[in-house]
Amino acid sequence: MMRIVLGGVRGTSPVSHPGFMRYGGATTSLLVEDGAGARLVIDAGTGLRALQPRLAAAGADAPVLMLFTHYHLDHLIGLPAFAPLYDPDWQVLFASPRREGVTAESAVTRLVEKPFWPVAFRARQRFRVLPDAPGDAPVCHGALAVRWCAVHHRNGCHAYRIDDRESGASVVFATDLEWRASDAAERDALLRLCRGPRPADVLIMDGQFDAAEAGRFAGWGHSAWQDAVEVAAAAGVGRLVVTHHAPDLDDAALDRRGLALEALGAHACLAQDGMEIETGKNV
Ligand SMILES: [Zn+2]
Ligand SMILES: [Zn+2]
Repeated sequence: MMRIVLGGVRGTSPVSHPGFMRYGGATTSLLVEDGAGARLVIDAGTGLRALQPRLAAAGADAPVLMLFTHYHLDHLIGLPAFAPLYDPDWQVLFASPRREGVTAESAVTRLVEKPFWPVAFRARQRFRVLPDAPGDAPVCHGALAVRWCAVHHRNGCHAYRIDDRESGASVVFATDLEWRASDAAERDALLRLCRGPRPADVLIMDGQFDAAEAGRFAGWGHSAWQDAVEVAAAAGVGRLVVTHHAPDLDDAALDRRGLALEALGAHACLAQDGMEIETGKNV
């Protein structure tokens, strides 16, 4: 069984206002666990804080794998205040492909040095530069096998697919990509990631805009939620979760969007802070 926990689902900037609390105001961070307790985090937006008790409770014995889709601040800003990184017993492996020459090590190191942050991490941290494409050799973490592909976004970004080799469960996380500006090779790469070795159980995809806005925001690096419906249908994924909500969309606006999404896409919903998805055997 695979469990996916969404710590933050807001795009661009965290928001804090009573009218935004149901979908949530924290920026992107999610946790994936296998049935035996291996833990993998993707992105470190302010939503990482909500995942902290769960990660801390599991203890420091097993290293946590932390992947980054890219280093825009909304995906990184939760990292400096993430308490386990100041525990000398805690183990974390930061891993990511290189993007425009930037590695996870160079991005994370710059984030926590003066004048931006006053203290250094004390956890046992390692860094690994992943190849541009995994080929036939996914990165394995417990029963979780990780593959990835580049997607269309300014400064580069990657989508990740996680397969649980025990239960057969799978999820693709594809945030911060502009589907309409993607070329044929970029579209093909994402669809292949979603389709193989079999259609993913869950696709969590950027749908920051509405199709009516997409022209006005061309080049901003994000998709319309209707694009996510198109990708989910083309790949034959089991369930679509649309994420990276624009910071000006309150709960009422997202409720209206959610109804339109459910009318257009079978087994589709909008992401919410704290949402837990279980998939695979015994679910
Ligand atoms: Zn973002
Ligand atoms: Zn971005």
